[in-house]
Amino acid sequence: MKCYECALEGKDTDAVGICIVCGRGVCKEHLIHEETPVWEGNYPIQLKPDQEHIKRIVCVPCHIALKENCLFNEVC
Ligand SMILES: [Zn+2]
Ligand SMILES: [Zn+2]
Repeated sequence: MKCYECALEGKDTDAVGICIVCGRGVCKEHLIHEETPVWEGNYPIQLKPDQEHIKRIVCVPCHIALKENCLFNEVC
């Protein structure tokens, strides 16, 4: 899988991880490794704080979206 963000920039970089939110490939330059809320079920998505504090991979756009939506209880 190729990095989606790099593809947008016209680069062809192998992904080293997959965003847990959108499922897109991300290279090491574009992945963000952080604790995220926990998903339960499908729709409506219910988020709750991650009790296990496991760092997961998200891509840059999803990272920004999560921050903007104030879904990170530990941050907001
Ligand atoms: Zn990339
Ligand atoms: Zn993503």
